[in-house]
This record gives sequence, C-alpha cells and structure tokens, in this order.
Amino acid sequence: MSKGVQDIVEVLRGILPEGRTYPLHEPIFTGNEKKYVDDCIDTGWVSYVGSYVTGFEEKLASAMGVKHAVATVNGTTALHVALMLCGVERDHEVLCPALTFIASANAISYCGAVPNFIEVSRDTLGVCPEKLDAYLSQIARKDSAGHVVNAQTGKRISALVLMHCFGHPVDMDACLQVAGKYDIPVIEDAAESLGSYYKGRHTGGDGKLSILSFNGNKVVTTGGGGAIATNDTALAQRAKFLTTTAKKPHAYLFLHEEVGYNYRLPNINAALGVAQLEQLPAFLARKRALAARYREGFKAIGNTAQFFNEPKDCESNYWLNAILVPDRATRDSLLEASNAIGIMTRPVWEPMHTLPMYKHCPRADLTLTAELADRIVNIPSSANL
Ligand SMILES: *Cc1c(COP(=O)(O)O)cnc(C)c1O
Repeated sequence: MSKGVQDIVEVLRGILPEGRTYPLHEPIFTGNEKKYVDDCIDTGWVSYVGSYVTGFEEKLASAMGVKHAVATVNGTTALHVALMLCGVERDHEVLCPALTFIASANAISYCGAVPNFIEVSRDTLGVCPEKLDAYLSQIARKDSAGHVVNAQTGKRISALVLMHCFGHPVDMDACLQVAGKYDIPVIEDAAESLGSYYKGRHTGGDGKLSILSFNGNKVVTTGGGGAIATNDTALAQRAKFLTTTAKKPHAYLFLHEEVGYNYRLPNINAALGVAQLEQLPAFLARKRALAARYREGFKAIGNTAQFFNEPKDCESNYWLNAILVPDRATRDSLLEASNAIGIMTRPVWEPMHTLPMYKHCPRADLTLTAELADRIVNIPSSANL
C-alpha cells in the first residue's frame, strides 16, 4: 500500500472507527415505518390501491415544491414514462451524460431510442452546459418539420436528461438556457438528489418532468420505488394514466384504449415511504454533518485526495460522498484496502459509452468522463454515521 493510500485510509478511520463495518449507504427505519406497514397488513391494503400511495405522492410533491408527483414501482420505470411523455419515440436520440447509472441509458433504449452521450463538468459531475452547447452547435440542425435533428445521424433529438450526480445539482440555469436555445425538452434524473437545492430551488422542478428513485440505497427508501414529478397538471394526469395500465375510470368495466404500463407503487411500499419522508429533514441534517466531517478530515491530505464539495449556489444532500484520487492505480489500491477493513467504498459507474450495448452510440468528446471514472471513489454515507 502506498503512503497516499495509507493516508486516505487513516482519514476514513478517523471518522469511521474500528468495531463495526460501514456499508456505503444503509436504510434507516427509526420512525413510523413499522406502524404504517402494520396498518397495511391489518387492513389488507397492501397492493396497488390505498391511501398511502396518495399520501406519499402529496408529501413528496410538497417536499420538492412541485405541483404533482406520481409514484412508480422504481426509478427506471419513472424514466421510461417521462421519456415517452416528452415525445421520445423509436429511432430518436436522447442526450444523456455518459457518467450516470445504467437506468438513464436503459430507459432510453426501452423507447427504441438511442442515447447520445454528453460530457460532464468538473464542478458538478453533471452535464456541462458549455460543452453541451459546443457539441450541439456542431451536430444540431432543424429539419423541414422544425424538429431538431443530429445532422451526423439524421435522427431526431427529442430530449435531454440531466442527472444530479451523487445529489450535487447540475448548473440548471445554464443547462436550461442551452436546451431552450435548441428547443430540446429537459428531463431531470433527480433519483439521487431528493433534498438538494440549486439557487434555493429543489432539484427536479425545473425540467418538463423529473424522476426520483426510492431504491434501498437512496436518501429515503420505499424498498423499491420511484416517482415522476412535474408542475404540468396535464402531464401528471397522463403519467398517472400510463403507469396504471391506461385504464379508463369505470365502476366495473375494464376499458383500455391504448398500451399502458403496470408501473404503480404498491401501498405497502408507499407506507414505508410516508414514514421515511417524515424523517427527511433529519436525514439531510445528518448527511450534511457527515459531509462536513469528511471535508475537514480530507483537508489535511488535499494533494492525495480531494473531497467533492457541493457546487456554487447549491445545497447538496450529499447522497454519496465522493473523493477524487490521483489515478486508477491509487483508486484500485484504496478500494482493496478499505473494503478489506469493512469500510465499504466503491468506484463510480463504468461510463455508459464503454459498455458493450452502448459503445456504438453517438457521443461527444468524453475525456473528462473517462478521467473522473478512474479517479472517483465513493465513501460510506449513511445518515446514521
Ligand atoms: C437509482 C437511480 C435510478 C433509478 O433506479 P431504480 O433502481 O430503478 O429505482 C435512476 N438514475 C440514477 C442516476 C440513479 O442513481
């Protein structure tokens, strides 16, 4: 083990003392979870209908400051429907960061569309508005119908996915400005950023639609779950309709006139979610306090590892704390050493354009994505630390 790796492990040990193991992000059930789940079991309302689903949607919309939230069975299905609601169809292209979780790219594929991978920024780890503008100025043209197309592939570009990486908001104003200039609708993948604010606005309220995830390792969990959020009432109604099998309301008839999806969140999962959302402010306070301790701890070894701080004008939920190490060799040696002593650390996702099913997709210059993929290490971030 190099001196550098030893120094990093020592900083981690200072904050995460011996005597237990430290998962990357564990769920915490210290509120009304048992009570609400018991209520579902006692009343029999465990499945697709029930008051916790509505309660969860209302509580979530209010926490985010958006008009509507529609609960779904996970974040990937929420993305699938959000893309459809933006008009993404077969053989379209969707702009999407290469540095993201696989769900962002997979949901694009479910529409029969192709991701077009774009570069991120060193300040946010999310989409870089300047590089996006430069890329679009090269490839984007208007066709005779007035649609934006990629002149290199001939395909229509029908959406832009912005992902708030590890909970750190992208530079929303600048990204929206570029999207507006080229007339491309924005979907915010806010799966990681519940409780994160950009210039005082909660993430997920600026795009045409946004999605969240309540997977077991997210800031709050429903076991598995997701949501579509929007300020557009017609889109929210359409999202509810499509995610609940596109059934026309009727007392007893099964009326369906188009292909719908069974993507709804069960009531028993929503019950967990209501209890979790009650504790969101407390979770956020503890996560930000942990991030402050890491920031302080890593200050002393700034040449070896840099703690990733929330971007300017932002308040981040610090979903997953991240450090940047000098290179891939240091990263691998740190992953080995820390996991061996029960401090769970993880590299960032393999960039999308390097995966077999996505390596032939169109893409911008991704030099920084490749560099960051070699250097990012996520460190334990649970709200109970
Ligand atoms: C967690 C996550 C999702 C959704 O994942 P599900 O497991 O389907 O809920 C989507 N995008 C990103 C960036 C995520 O981190």
